[in-house]
Amino acid sequence: MTAKHTDLFDETLKIAAKHLPLDERQLEILLGASRGQREKLYSLARSCRREYFGDRLFGYGFIYFSTYCRNNCNFCFYRKSNSEALRYRKTKDEVLRTSRALAESGVHLLDLTLGEDPEYVLDDDGYDALLDIAAEMRASTGLPLMISPGVLENEDRARKAADTGIEFYACYQETHNRPLFSRLRQGQDYQTRWDAKTNARKAGMLVEEGILAGVGEELSDIAHSIATMREMRAAQVRVMSFVPQKGVALRRSIEEGLYLRELNTIAVMRVAMPDRFIPASLDVAGKSGLKDRLDAGANIITSLIMPDSGFAGVSNATLDIDSGERSLPGILDTLDECGLQMGSREEFENALLTLARSAAER
Ligand code: SF4
Repeated sequence: MTAKHTDLFDETLKIAAKHLPLDERQLEILLGASRGQREKLYSLARSCRREYFGDRLFGYGFIYFSTYCRNNCNFCFYRKSNSEALRYRKTKDEVLRTSRALAESGVHLLDLTLGEDPEYVLDDDGYDALLDIAAEMRASTGLPLMISPGVLENEDRARKAADTGIEFYACYQETHNRPLFSRLRQGQDYQTRWDAKTNARKAGMLVEEGILAGVGEELSDIAHSIATMREMRAAQVRVMSFVPQKGVALRRSIEEGLYLRELNTIAVMRVAMPDRFIPASLDVAGKSGLKDRLDAGANIITSLIMPDSGFAGVSNATLDIDSGERSLPGILDTLDECGLQMGSREEFENALLTLARSAAER
């Protein structure tokens, strides 16, 4: 690390602290924070989070409803051609039962996720059945909803989801480098996936966008993604390290430093987009990775799963689930350690309203 590089890092951090917009080159400088520099960056990220959210965090219950998928993303355990994948399609009753249990555990939002399961995405009847389940989840818990069913193929589907009262649509590009996208999401069209999010926003939903780390990207790609997510009016922005699983041929493009890359990305996203929701996902490293992600500036805990529910995670299908360490009561001690606490439902609803207002203004 040269003195010149250190000066540049410190100067860029000062610009960030003034909330001046950072260009891609400046984002890249912060993303490259070394072990010695990262505490300065994370400290700024935490102060940005405090400014907008105080010491309050929010938790999302995760319901991986169907693990069938028609696609073959090369990083994904649930890709169609992976014979090792754990496959199931839950019934409406199972989904409603676990929804109520998650609601009772204190989560703020329910995330209904599925692969692009032909049963629910190929025709309108299947899609309507999915929305019917979402509507019943809302009716029986009173909680806000996020759906992650893959690409919503047209404006009509986005409008129907919004009319069902679904607040959030999650659909991750994983990278905003088009050639890399083509390698990761084989056989899928970059623009179609992108347009699904534009349609969701136009229909009045909030959008979550996300990227993967360790899949062949350069730091400049991550900087470009952060600038793109800032511009696209994504209300929630996430990064996750790629976790190789059984039957997945893709290998990590970096091993050494990947953890730091994810944490630095969380911190730079917070600094560049201080008012957005940024997840600390339990799906990557379970409870043991939570503190570091919160210390880097995350304010949403995602992938909370009820123990013994029979539901799976994504990047780690089973990690920490049956021990209860991926349930909301199971992580409260980590929040204490970080000097943070769970917000109330009312605080979450107010935060959602603020997000919706600022997404409309941006
Ligand atoms: S990432 Fe999603 S769309 Fe791609 S194979 Fe996995 S479940 Fe299917």
